Amino acid sequence: VSNDGADKAVDIAIIGGGPAGLTAALYAARGGAHTTVFERGVLGGQITTTDRIENYPAFPEGIGGGELGELMARQAETHGAKIVPFVEITKLTQLDDGTFELTDEYDTHYARSVIIATGAVPKLLEIDGEAEYTGRGVSWCSTCDGAFYRGKVIAVIGGGNAALEEALFLTKFARRVYLVHRREAFRAETVHVDRAQAHEAIEFVTPFAPLKIVGDGSKVTGLHIEHVEHGTTDVLEIDGVFEYVGTCPQSTVAESLLTPDEYGYLDVQTDGSTDIPGLFCAGDVTTAPLKQVVTAAGAGAVAGFSALRFLEQQALQQ
Ligand SMILES: Cc1cc2nc3c(=O)[nH]c(=O)nc-3n(C[C@H](O)[C@H](O)[C@H](O)COP(=O)(O)OP(=O)(O)OC[C@H]3O[C@@H](n4cnc5c(N)ncnc54)[C@H](O)[C@@H]3O)c2cc1C
Repeated sequence: VSNDGADKAVDIAIIGGGPAGLTAALYAARGGAHTTVFERGVLGGQITTTDRIENYPAFPEGIGGGELGELMARQAETHGAKIVPFVEITKLTQLDDGTFELTDEYDTHYARSVIIATGAVPKLLEIDGEAEYTGRGVSWCSTCDGAFYRGKVIAVIGGGNAALEEALFLTKFARRVYLVHRREAFRAETVHVDRAQAHEAIEFVTPFAPLKIVGDGSKVTGLHIEHVEHGTTDVLEIDGVFEYVGTCPQSTVAESLLTPDEYGYLDVQTDGSTDIPGLFCAGDVTTAPLKQVVTAAGAGAVAGFSALRFLEQQALQQ
């Protein structure tokens, strides 16, 4: 993957080198547009934080998250996209003639169309052991990782709809699910709470706050918890922790041109377009209901295609 700097002016600039951005780049570059992807970190986005992706089509044995990201990047490059890792776009504005201006720490770039594919990051608990065991027992994605816990004991942390829904989903695999929440009351809808309470595999552990995650050096073995009112502590013997204490969409760079919803997600039309002509969004940063690699890649393809069409229409008008 090249990192020898970006061209100053391109047809399509893509912010974010995760599945959405890299697939948008594949479609845009393959469609003949001069395309650059800016990625602030490692290519591949969130999938680089997981060992194995088992639900992306065409890989019957699964594929490593990092490897999949690398393959997506290589495929986009093969078709002519320029990929620039370790460059964070900090500002996005639009000039009077419609050209977009993208600013990073050192430079300014220009593009006729922009695709925002900046994704989201799970909110962290920020407790001991969390970073050490990420991908080795600590997860934020039950759809992705639930199957690894068949017959095992896990803890789900959180009190919103996501935590309750995922706890219920995880009972398909785990024989016991501790639902750890720092309050007696739940933010989740009553229907979810009632269903979870009625489920024999789910045990409510409230009002307890997670203190630290412990393990044997290679995998999680326990979760230390503290009673929020009494201060008493306990240890849950578990094989995995699923954290659902919220997500942080990475939409800050869009805020000069678009207004995110109350949770920070960007609203888009089904073709990825926004209220600003030439500005498109795709993937986890949007309000899309399912946040997975396959949906991010699909949305990236749509946004890449729509950006190409926008450029064609612009050319016809000139
Ligand atoms: C631990 C974990 C395991 C998962 N497992 C699976 C799984 O097994 N199967 C599955 O389908 N899904 C899985 N997911 C979900 C999946 O990873 C996401 O749905 C998908 O990566 C979303 O792709 P995206 O391109 O929209 O966003 P992201 O993957 O979040 O990529 C966005 C990229 O944009 C970059 N970026 C953000 N802001 C800027 C900026 N200002 N300038 C430059 N770059 C920027 C970020 O660094 C990031 O690389 C998992 C998620 C996690 C956290």
